Amino acid sequence: MSEAEAKPRSNFIRQIIEEDLRTGKHDRIATRFPPEPNGYLHIGHAKSIWLNFGIAEDYDGTCNLRFDDTNPHKENIEYVEAIQHDVHWLGYDWDDRLFYASDYFEQLYRFAIELIENGNAYVCDLSADEIRAYRGTLTEPGRESPYRNRSVAENLDLFTRMRAGEFEDGARVLRAKIDMASPNMNMRDPTLYRIRHGIVHHQTGEEWCIYPMYDFTHPISDALEGITHSLCTLEFEDHRPLYDWVLDNTSVPCHPRQIEFSRLNLEYTVVSKRKLTRLVDEGHVRGWDDPRMPTLAGLRRRGYTPAAIRDFCERIGVTKSDNMVEMGVLESCIREDLDRTAPRAMAVLHPLKVVIENYPEEKVEQLEARNHPKDDGMGTREVPFSREIYIDRADFREEAPRKYKRLVTGGEVRLRYGYVIRCDEVIKDNTGEIVELRCSYDPDTLGANPQGRKVRGVIHWVSAPHARRAEIRLYDRLFKHPTPDATDDFVTQINPDSLHVLTQCYVEPSLADAYPGDRFQFEREGYFVLDTGDTTEEHLVFNRTATLRDSWARIEQQQRDERDAKG
Ligand code: ATP
Ligand code: MG
Repeated sequence: MSEAEAKPRSNFIRQIIEEDLRTGKHDRIATRFPPEPNGYLHIGHAKSIWLNFGIAEDYDGTCNLRFDDTNPHKENIEYVEAIQHDVHWLGYDWDDRLFYASDYFEQLYRFAIELIENGNAYVCDLSADEIRAYRGTLTEPGRESPYRNRSVAENLDLFTRMRAGEFEDGARVLRAKIDMASPNMNMRDPTLYRIRHGIVHHQTGEEWCIYPMYDFTHPISDALEGITHSLCTLEFEDHRPLYDWVLDNTSVPCHPRQIEFSRLNLEYTVVSKRKLTRLVDEGHVRGWDDPRMPTLAGLRRRGYTPAAIRDFCERIGVTKSDNMVEMGVLESCIREDLDRTAPRAMAVLHPLKVVIENYPEEKVEQLEARNHPKDDGMGTREVPFSREIYIDRADFREEAPRKYKRLVTGGEVRLRYGYVIRCDEVIKDNTGEIVELRCSYDPDTLGANPQGRKVRGVIHWVSAPHARRAEIRLYDRLFKHPTPDATDDFVTQINPDSLHVLTQCYVEPSLADAYPGDRFQFEREGYFVLDTGDTTEEHLVFNRTATLRDSWARIEQQQRDERDAKG
């Protein structure tokens, strides 16, 4: 963990754990992260990973990675692998404790038999619709299934034959026998097992044609692994009585405690694998790792660092109340991290050619540029300077108010790490568009202003013959609505301008040596990462990770500081 990550803040879950250690209820803590492999992990999962693995780290305990793979028709091995990769990337490790709920299918089956033998479960022949109708409503009690009072022997016979594959999908289910009048709907004889033929499970193949339900599988898996604290999101609060009932009515080795915390919700995006799957399947994005996606794969490709994501989890904290987090919180985490760690470079996004007429044609100078303004350890690099350079279109105006601190006709500006230039002439095409500037440079201005000279602005640039062409992708929020989930159909809220591709950008030549995944601050433009998907030797593609907030204010401040330092 980096220095920026302070000691973790306490929260109600940590308080419970500390109390359990203090009173001797537990002498070691065991948590788990239990994703269902039906999609890629998203930023919401990061909160759960950070919480579960972080607690294990801080209290000298263990955290298991367990795939909740009881719904095999929506799962696949691609997701299993991607999830492991993402957890590792975030900086966590499960050592040899990688488990699958399907590892326990045989044991779960035995516990189901135990429930039947003790009169706590029965085979029910009602159809799914009938079960729903019998369940009642929040205001009306349910009705008991006509199959509820089957004998233990009959239940054992039918359940054994369910497993043997004698019945079709939906013909029968195994249900817990709890209380059809319970005010908690989850306790009204919930289904424990259903029949699913024709599935090739990614772990167990065709061995099983009955599959246990989550509410039965989860507590038993937790208990079999000796989990002490089973942390889950608030929507499982109403399931806790069932979690406890399963543990109380089976001979499992221990009784983990389920504790619920609030989900992470993030503005301008969706965090649900089902919805993210839809974005991918319907082609609204270019895949799970599209840099606009709130998936860990997408954030990684966008240039986010694991440290920034962990810092984000720390900042939003763990509570019991649902809330909506602003995207700005996530963005400020990555800005802070990259401000510290990303080397600086120069890139011109909207190039405008500048010819420096008094600079010799063949001459090239290597100017020294610092890789980081506050970290000398990051060293310097050489940036070639020549008679023809590119600057950004936004850094020139023919006429501008006095407070405009860039280049204007007849005015002067400093080139970052270089000379002061003056614009002498503006060249336009026949539509009136500016195509080139003719400038002159002052050879006495390299590094410092001569006495008494006032140059008000500093702009970035690249040498035209040396620069590398690059494609730069600028991203905006994926949705135009802050809470797309709250609308009729979140897909209709997609922001049509979430991606801008600039194909004619120029970056300084040192960037040709960068590796995909390397991150930079392009001075005055923001933070960028060399794309891991589409970059080739010949074709550099950068993704903008984040903009520089208040870039102007900061640069002006820097200039003032530099001036002050020079006295
Ligand atoms: P999704 O709706 O995206 O599929 P899920 O809860 O069904 O989410 P799981 O794979 O079952 O996804 O989740 C694994 C763990 O991650 C669970 O413990 C779950 O509570 C937690 N988790 C999922 N989404 C969030 C979120 N938005 N915030 C915090 N924790 C989350
Ligand atoms: Mg789920």
